[in-house]
Amino acid sequence: MRPPLVVGNWKMNPASIAGAVSLARAVRGLGLPIEVGVAPPSIALAAVAEQLRGSPITVYAQDVHWEEAGAYTGGLAAPMLAGIAAGSIVGHSEVRRDQGDDDERVGRKLARALAAGLRVVLCVGESEAEHVAGETHAVVERQLRAALGVARPPRGAGIVVAYEPVWAIGTGRPASGGHASAAAATVRRALAAAGLDGEATRVLYGGSVSAGSVAEFAAAEGIDGALVGGASLKPEEFGAIVRAFAR
Ligand code: PEP
Repeated sequence: MRPPLVVGNWKMNPASIAGAVSLARAVRGLGLPIEVGVAPPSIALAAVAEQLRGSPITVYAQDVHWEEAGAYTGGLAAPMLAGIAAGSIVGHSEVRRDQGDDDERVGRKLARALAAGLRVVLCVGESEAEHVAGETHAVVERQLRAALGVARPPRGAGIVVAYEPVWAIGTGRPASGGHASAAAATVRRALAAAGLDGEATRVLYGGSVSAGSVAEFAAAEGIDGALVGGASLKPEEFGAIVRAFAR
């Protein structure tokens, strides 16, 4: 039995720490019935964690550095998150795009985060061109094989995989539930091939999940929740998304 999980990725929003604290307060006030995480910008992590202290909502970083410490200007080292965040997103397509992360670097980040005792929401997914070329499963399998090959996580490591087709992120054009289910099956095969327990690992869908589209993913075989971007900034809509996965 895999308990459902919904994580809100706030990306580079809201515009201030005060705004992030007030969003966290609003999410807390929803009294959500399943496991929920929020991933605020790094500058707001500590303030949001403080606001959510004593609540069941967990705090995630949006990314961590692949090194433990040192001369990496602008970096956020995984051990720095101790006592603030329970986990981190790793491998998000926007980070891959903007910071040139390849699968090897994603693997190194995964290893650092796990070594620091963080849970990881590991993101994989194909680009639009790869989707059109019918390469979804090959891409997802390659991304996982490469990252897990570098990180070599032990069976039982705190990994959740988010299947996020790049063409669906922020476009208002979500994948279908069937497409997400098929990708989740590929994810679990790739996890098993790396020695992990694919059946016990939660797979989230991400990409334009909204109150209007969530039912399809809540009903999709093998999908255990969602990684939500834009809609996670609207507490009422986020609440509706979360409740759709309560079963
Ligand atoms: C994301 O960035 O992880 C995401 C799923 O974004 P959106 O929901 O806005 O498509």
